[in-house]
Amino acid sequence: MATRPTIVLSRKGVTWWRTGHPWIYRDDLLPGQSAAAGDIVTVQDEQGRFLGQAFYSATSRLALRFLTMSAEPIDSAFWEARLQQAWAYRRRAVAAATAYRLIYAEADGFPGLIVDNYDGHVVLQVHHPGISRCLDDLLPLCHRLLPVKSITLRNDSDVRRLEGLPLEVQTIFGQVPTDLIIQEGPVQFRVDILRGQKTGLFLDQRENRQAAAAWAQGEVLDCFSYQGGFALHAARQARRVVAVESSAFSLQVAKDNARLNGLENIDWIQANCFDFLKNAVHAGEHYDLIILDPPAFAKSRADRPAAIKGYRDLNRRAFQLLRPGGVLVTNSCSYNLDLNTFLDLLRQAARDAHRSARIIACRGAAKDHPALLALPESAYLKCVLAMAIS
Ligand code: SAH
Repeated sequence: MATRPTIVLSRKGVTWWRTGHPWIYRDDLLPGQSAAAGDIVTVQDEQGRFLGQAFYSATSRLALRFLTMSAEPIDSAFWEARLQQAWAYRRRAVAAATAYRLIYAEADGFPGLIVDNYDGHVVLQVHHPGISRCLDDLLPLCHRLLPVKSITLRNDSDVRRLEGLPLEVQTIFGQVPTDLIIQEGPVQFRVDILRGQKTGLFLDQRENRQAAAAWAQGEVLDCFSYQGGFALHAARQARRVVAVESSAFSLQVAKDNARLNGLENIDWIQANCFDFLKNAVHAGEHYDLIILDPPAFAKSRADRPAAIKGYRDLNRRAFQLLRPGGVLVTNSCSYNLDLNTFLDLLRQAARDAHRSARIIACRGAAKDHPALLALPESAYLKCVLAMAIS
């Protein structure tokens, strides 16, 4: 500990630290201080009082990510306790699924690290040089504590650029099968760990896919379908499902998934969902369940006005297409847009469509993606189920 660099917070920084938020921006450090990228630093106030230990970033505006507010040693035993805790939690939180998130960054005490487990094929996203340096401790622990079949680094996310880290995808242990299949409740999915979006699947929507399927009947529309996530679950209950997605590659996997599950009642359509919805309204189509799961429109605060307009347009059209008694499952994964703002724009969308609706449920990400109470940014996913009454 004695050899660790020390970083001192400004008074404003200390006030922010008191809220318990685990991130400190560079503006909140006393000027003129630095450490090396990825150093574990001791954090103090101007009087020299100990505030905690954090990963230091040399390049990002987000200068410090707290590991602990206590002076404990950060060694292999520290990581082992956190990994054990993360795994014990997943054993309680995840049911009937062979793919789940094992480590969700700060919410599990691992700033900058995501670990997803696809039936023993483990995928890491390393988003900070601090956690990157700790991999020598972490990887042997994964082998010792978990039934690991392979380990892949999916280090191709743009956020790594902010930390000056190179982009790469690499399997560092074992082999990823070309035909990896996982179970999600009653549905099986093929997973392409090396080329799929994120680490292969959108695991955060697992419970919402099943919650949506519970309302499936008649005709279902799944917009932004990716590899058929919501569509496959819904098709087990519905007469017909129309799934719309812009990526031809994703649709190819989606069709394979339908065959794998013996489902023949899904029409796969390659289109821009904005155009599809507009045309469907003009054609007078109607559906009993509509799912909207677009990518994040508000990547930053500056995007908010355009994002709100985008969400409002999509949802207005969805309300226009719902039969009375039909259910809309509408999602936003933009953390720059909070639940109240989302509900406000849904209210406007329903009004613009001359529809009255009741909220059935407001949901978040699946339980294996727990939000850290002190870090609102970790509660990014909003999933609202609303029924059109008239
Ligand atoms: N619902 C999916 C995840 C959706 S991710 C699941 O449960 O697995 C968002 C998807 O929207 C991506 O596959 C992306 O290719 C697609 N997409 C993005 N913009 C689009 C657009 N304008 N029209 C259609 N699809 C789009």
